Amino acid sequence: MPMVPGGRVIGLDISGTFGGGMRGALVDVAGSLIARKVAVTPRISQEDLIGNLVTMASRLADQAQRDSAPASAVGIAVPGLINEASGVVLRSPNLPLQEVPLGQILQDRLKIPVFLTKDASAGAIAEYALGAGRPVADMMLVLIGNGVGSAVVSDGRVLRGVHGTAGEIGHIVIDPAGIVCGCGGRGCVETFASVTSIARRYTMAAKEAILAEEVVAKAEAGNPAAVRVWNDALGALATVIATAVALIDCSLVVLSGTMKLSAEALRPLEALLAKRINLVQLPRVEVGVLGETAGVLGAAAIAFERAGMGNAAQEWRRSGH
Ligand SMILES: [Zn+2]
Repeated sequence: MPMVPGGRVIGLDISGTFGGGMRGALVDVAGSLIARKVAVTPRISQEDLIGNLVTMASRLADQAQRDSAPASAVGIAVPGLINEASGVVLRSPNLPLQEVPLGQILQDRLKIPVFLTKDASAGAIAEYALGAGRPVADMMLVLIGNGVGSAVVSDGRVLRGVHGTAGEIGHIVIDPAGIVCGCGGRGCVETFASVTSIARRYTMAAKEAILAEEVVAKAEAGNPAAVRVWNDALGALATVIATAVALIDCSLVVLSGTMKLSAEALRPLEALLAKRINLVQLPRVEVGVLGETAGVLGAAAIAFERAGMGNAAQEWRRSGH
């Protein structure tokens, strides 16, 4: 479906996964960011969090009004378990949002339709439409942040499944006797490969507190403790990505998130995948190119589509913006 001419929506990203803080943008039908906002994400008070979202969206809506091109809908990328149909955040481990009808609350305050989506789904659709995924129809996005999130684009559409959790690899168990995870399980992928887990594991091994990115740099320089931690992270990721590839047959795996990874740092992951993927085609592994704008762009694309204003992801790919 072609885009509604002159249409605009607001994309919000409260995940912090694509870059710290809460982000918002006014986005036009061509996928251009007309205006952008950044704010802190309140992590204790639900009222403050919703207040900040309303303020950010209202300011972007005001700007659209001033331009005489009002925003028709809001899309929000949220980390955690979401019921997209009802707009309810079921569980968001790092935010004060448990069983909250966030979509309805914001819709009542903003007076325009509000659509929720999982942060990884927003990132996947954005990279597919405007980023690393443009040459392919089937890809998987893996987000390395405070958690490990993922989503799958299959034949140009985000896989959702019965409960909206399709393609989520972060809580597949690698070691049932492993470290307790934020989800309540043990030894999930997230306990090996999230930014916090990489840093924590290195600190436990080397008695030195450094950031995950520094652990990767040390691993590349041959530091034995860092090599062990980074290899364990990549091994956990490779195991579940290989399984996912067997199920979905995608040609590309895109890594993105708060940890800034170089293409070079991912070569060992490709090597591990090559050992784990037999018979079926090995996917390419790339770093996401949209960085911190992936969340707001993906949220906006989903708002355009669900508001009946056109299939933004397909149009953006075609127009080559
Ligand atoms: Zn878990």
